[in-house]
Amino acid sequence: MKKYNFGAGPSILPREVMEATAAACLDFNGIGLSLMEISHRSKDFQAVMDEAQALLKELLDVPAGYSVLFLGGGASLQFCMVPYNLLEKKAAYLNTGVWAKKAQKEAKLFGEVVEVASSADRNYSYLPKDFVIPSDADYFHLTTNNTIYGTEIREDLDSPVPMVADMSSDILSRPVDVAKYALIYGGAQKNLSMAGVTFVIIKDDILGHVSRSIPTMLDYRTHIDKGSMFNTPPVVPIYSAMQNLRWVKAQGGVKEMDRRAHERAEILYAEIDRNRLFRGTVEAADRSLMNICFVMNDEYKDLEAEFLAFATERGMTGIKGHRSVGGFRASCYNAMSVEGVKALVDCMREFESKH
Ligand SMILES: *Cc1c(COP(=O)(O)O)cnc(C)c1O
Repeated sequence: MKKYNFGAGPSILPREVMEATAAACLDFNGIGLSLMEISHRSKDFQAVMDEAQALLKELLDVPAGYSVLFLGGGASLQFCMVPYNLLEKKAAYLNTGVWAKKAQKEAKLFGEVVEVASSADRNYSYLPKDFVIPSDADYFHLTTNNTIYGTEIREDLDSPVPMVADMSSDILSRPVDVAKYALIYGGAQKNLSMAGVTFVIIKDDILGHVSRSIPTMLDYRTHIDKGSMFNTPPVVPIYSAMQNLRWVKAQGGVKEMDRRAHERAEILYAEIDRNRLFRGTVEAADRSLMNICFVMNDEYKDLEAEFLAFATERGMTGIKGHRSVGGFRASCYNAMSVEGVKALVDCMREFESKH
């Protein structure tokens, strides 16, 4: 049976990307050695690093004056590196979910944190609007896609201070006006690569404004100066990122990824809204195109486990909702096909006619 992976992360990748990565782990570029055993300073691997960085810049149209880094530690280490490098006195954070809150928690270790707005009052089921970003903050931090709750800021906001975005779960799903951001980061395992590598797009001139000393490994400057090769980088995840970036480019780039994201989400949300068994958990205007959250309507609540089993039997995997929302979450990253979404919709319809 064909399986459709709706997991939130680590998540689906194009089959070609996994095949190319698997092949390179056995024999890299026909050199008779594995990608896993060659020096990261060899010219063969340097070419991978160079191409991955260049492709990310090309696909997101990154302006001059920015560097692309591939680091370890996940998005979670960026929660700490961002304030370590940028917070002198005060930073502004938008609280739209668990990840945003975790980022905020780390920043408090380094200085004053202003929460400009929060949607915690209704379990993060909407996006706060009309908040004011203090113009004396060192930076403003937001999470563009809230992987757990299924809300998404799918536009590039204006900020009076340097803007820092966690784009872990929507990077490469739409064109981004990178010039509006001082720093963009994310764990790769949602929409870019396998787990193990973190991408950072950083404006070079935002560094050097804090007075504290920064440990070498946590200083962005170290990694910019050494081209992400200060220490041994995660070579296999970087290789799979390069393969995935090639795939995105061959499919038509981020514009095409954006079109597909809209197409998938429209099909699935339309069914959630039509089907009397289900309802969405997020305010309609704030719905994520990446992580689509829904629950059973109250009168059908006791069918939840049955629907999960029913859909799982038909090849849908990873649709169980996060424990803090319950119900279901269908993550529809770049590699998810329209066919996969239609298969899930078929399950929902069939289940409806059974009940
Ligand atoms: C998954 C996720 C993270 C955590 O990423 P790690 O790489 O596991 O540290 C942070 N932010 C968002 C928005 C995420 O979806």
